[in-house]
Amino acid sequence: MKITLIPGDGIGPEVTKAATMCIDALKLGIEWETVYAGSDAIAKYGSILPEQVLDSIRKNKVALKGPMITPIGEGFRSVNVAIRQALDLFACVRPAKSIEGVPTKFKNIDIVIFRENTEDLYAGIEFEEGSPEAQSIIKEIEKQQTKKIRPDSAISIKPISISGSQRIINAAFDYARVNKRKKVTLVHKANIMKYTDGLFLKVGKDVAKRYPDIVFEDAIVDNLSMQLVKVPQNYDVLVLPNLYGDIISDLCAGLIGGLGVAPGANIGGDMAVFEAVHGAAPKYKDKNMVNPTAMIMSGVLMLDYIGKKEEAKKLEQAVRQVIKEGKSVTYDLKENRNDPTAVGTKEMAEAICKKLQ
Ligand code: NAD
Repeated sequence: MKITLIPGDGIGPEVTKAATMCIDALKLGIEWETVYAGSDAIAKYGSILPEQVLDSIRKNKVALKGPMITPIGEGFRSVNVAIRQALDLFACVRPAKSIEGVPTKFKNIDIVIFRENTEDLYAGIEFEEGSPEAQSIIKEIEKQQTKKIRPDSAISIKPISISGSQRIINAAFDYARVNKRKKVTLVHKANIMKYTDGLFLKVGKDVAKRYPDIVFEDAIVDNLSMQLVKVPQNYDVLVLPNLYGDIISDLCAGLIGGLGVAPGANIGGDMAVFEAVHGAAPKYKDKNMVNPTAMIMSGVLMLDYIGKKEEAKKLEQAVRQVIKEGKSVTYDLKENRNDPTAVGTKEMAEAICKKLQ
């Protein structure tokens, strides 16, 4: 079968190469259709997200994607967000499961995050300070209610819909049921954002009624952050609106040892794009240094999604074995980050491939 491969920027090409090397070692006959997006694509195609990238994913239905750089506060908007929105990949699924041998204070973590991927402050509806649009919106809002907005404000819009909330919360409960998980925790700040987060919570309570076999609870995002670093073992499946999901994903990645080991998937109705939680880490580009685990484990999620469940397990076991042995691992998986015995991205992937033979 054909799978779309987007190498990405920064460390993207190195970690996607490591992942395809491991997946190819399983001899499933996967043919990678490589397409380019991000800063590299501007030079080649004059666009950060050439139509052929989206066409390739629409045709193949599955993609493995490296991270891409998004300049902060200026330049183009995130290609990563654009892909998720263009293909309506509404569920960002990020498992955070402890791996024996990864240096971390926390043990026995097994949390799966369902982050809504298309709405909220991530919708990209923003108005620049001083622009006629921002001025006009400020005037309009002041007509509708009594609170003042300072005239020198920039404005971001936070849309949260019933339908958008229903499909991500349904997905979290379906996952919990299929994977025999016990509890879904819905995360919000409905005490302050009564209409947007309040709606997310209300929909959650309604959806939960259809899943009496699964415990449902809600948590306010600030309190959840504290609880997660105190007793992370209390959490099972988390479902969150987009922005909290983004932040809590990194927190959970930290619990299991850092971004180098945290995989992810963006899943829509009939297609999915698999990518690590981490970004393009530009300072490590072309150094053959970073950890390929997050990208390889994103490949494990991909194999599971396409129905290659045995092979997915085999690859996951190989990754876990190499990390547990602690020899052929990258610097971030050593107790001492300056340990000279740390290997490179490629060498760690090769060690994983050897376990698959
Ligand atoms: P980042 O995840 O790229 O890197 C932060 C730090 O995490 C790195 O400096 C490094 O110390 C560590 N790290 C990340 N990946 C690692 C790996 N595989 N192995 C070992 N250590 C690793 O986050 P950032 O610096 O905030 O973002 C850099 C760029 O990536 C930005 O342009 C950002 O917008 C983009 N980004 C893209 C995605 C995506 O493509 N989905 C996600 C997040 C950030």
